[in-house]
Amino acid sequence: VELASDSNTDNTRRQVFDASHSYVKPKKPSSPKLIHVSREMAEAIGLDKDSVMSKDFLDIFSGTKIYPKTKPYAMAYAGHQFGNWAGQLGDGRAINLFEVEHNNNRWALQLKGAGETPYSRQGDGLAVLRSSVREYLCSEAMYHLGVPTTRALSLMLSGDDVLRDMLYDGNADYEKGAIVCRVAPTFIRFGNFELFAARQDYKNLKKLTDYTINHFYPHLGKPSKETYVKFFQEVTNRTLEMIIHWQRVGFVHGVMNTDNMSILGLTIDYGPYGWLEGFDFGWTPNTTDRQNKRYRYGNQPNIALWNVLQLANALYPLVEEAEPFETILNQYKIDFEEKSLSMMRSKLGLEIQDKNDAKLMADLEDCLTLHEIDMTIFFRSLSKYKQGNSESGLEIIHKAFYKPEDIKDHVLKQWKGWLVSYDQRLQIEELTDQQRQSKMNLVNPKYVLRNYMAQLAIDSANKGDYSLIDELFKLLKKPYDEQPGQEKWFAKRPEWARHKVGCSM
Ligand code: AMP
Ligand code: MG
Ligand code: MG
Repeated sequence: VELASDSNTDNTRRQVFDASHSYVKPKKPSSPKLIHVSREMAEAIGLDKDSVMSKDFLDIFSGTKIYPKTKPYAMAYAGHQFGNWAGQLGDGRAINLFEVEHNNNRWALQLKGAGETPYSRQGDGLAVLRSSVREYLCSEAMYHLGVPTTRALSLMLSGDDVLRDMLYDGNADYEKGAIVCRVAPTFIRFGNFELFAARQDYKNLKKLTDYTINHFYPHLGKPSKETYVKFFQEVTNRTLEMIIHWQRVGFVHGVMNTDNMSILGLTIDYGPYGWLEGFDFGWTPNTTDRQNKRYRYGNQPNIALWNVLQLANALYPLVEEAEPFETILNQYKIDFEEKSLSMMRSKLGLEIQDKNDAKLMADLEDCLTLHEIDMTIFFRSLSKYKQGNSESGLEIIHKAFYKPEDIKDHVLKQWKGWLVSYDQRLQIEELTDQQRQSKMNLVNPKYVLRNYMAQLAIDSANKGDYSLIDELFKLLKKPYDEQPGQEKWFAKRPEWARHKVGCSM
């Protein structure tokens, strides 16, 4: 694909035609400081203990120095934002440094918050400590939960202050600037394809698609019309898998615009994301989406389908036949129902498929929405259920209710009814209570990055204390394990945090 500019200097915001990316230089931070590094990720790219503590590491992953013989660049993409065509976007505050091959894996390394690019539009290309801590902790947490995701290598302070308009009160506020190094096999998004399709630049659309297939989907074979359809099929499948994981762990992305959809089916762009605390299909962490709640928890599967439809439209010119795409899109709905049901079975410790399972799940979802109940604590606690003991079921899940003293009698009655049907359902299973518990504890995390936990880590980081970042980082490496001494994080959200949500900037 043609490059936008071979000079390293033209970072002005602009429409960039006939190009997939523009060369840019990261902004030099005034006094960079390493806050945290993911040793595991460092190892994955071939860096040892000493090198992550070196001056070179600090220089390169803060944007102070450019690694020899590399040419950092920002990618051009487009996208649908909140359901509307937004035209050209692009890496407005992400700069790709280089790619690394290690142990037969290929990693692209990207700085987020390292300054302006031609795609920065009205933004400054910078990131604040708050959003950087959130991305750093959450992407690694998601990885350890088994959710496909981009990852993070390092979290640095830039030493510069960043001006941010707080969304809540409209007051201007300075915050500490930070830089995260994100890592993924590639950061190519649906929006990269949409950009070329919208400009009817089919030559580059084909180049990009062929590149993506050759590098990341080589098992599909040589690019051809047939291969393009297979490619779309696999991207759709991977996207669905990712969504099922989000629903399983109670992750709400918050900004499922098509420019935030990875072509590898990875969770990408940790902005105003949030975790379900009280189970609520209507919940969104995104304060700018409170009206339509387009990106609410219960709508994520539909939005993912809407987004893959946009990708189908973008790929259509390469295939010139609608039917293969329609077949795949129709199949998504069927696959979603089936995968969603089997995911729910796993959360309940059920191995056998029963014809009444859909009803059992629908009844459970009804119960979960009757009185605010913590999703994570509910499912984790339910693993302690003893078969034949539906009477004691309520005691087991009691600590998951937010205001136990306010629960109405009809709510308790409905829960009791569900526990009786769960108990009956367990009778056709073969697992012992102990075996069921072990299996459930592998899919129902004990620890997730609750919004208030990230907030506490941010508050102390803003005061220069990074110990909580490290504590949460370690905690979330083993989200399914019992971790004695860490029970304080297996707790309902405190009331002060109820209306605190993430913020994308
Ligand atoms: P997002 O909602 O985070 O996916 O961002 C949408 C678009 O805005 C992307 O093209 C981002 O690169 C760009 N963007 C977001 N924040 C900034 C910023 N602080 N400076 C420049 N561009 C930004
Ligand atoms: Mg984005
Ligand atoms: Mg973002």
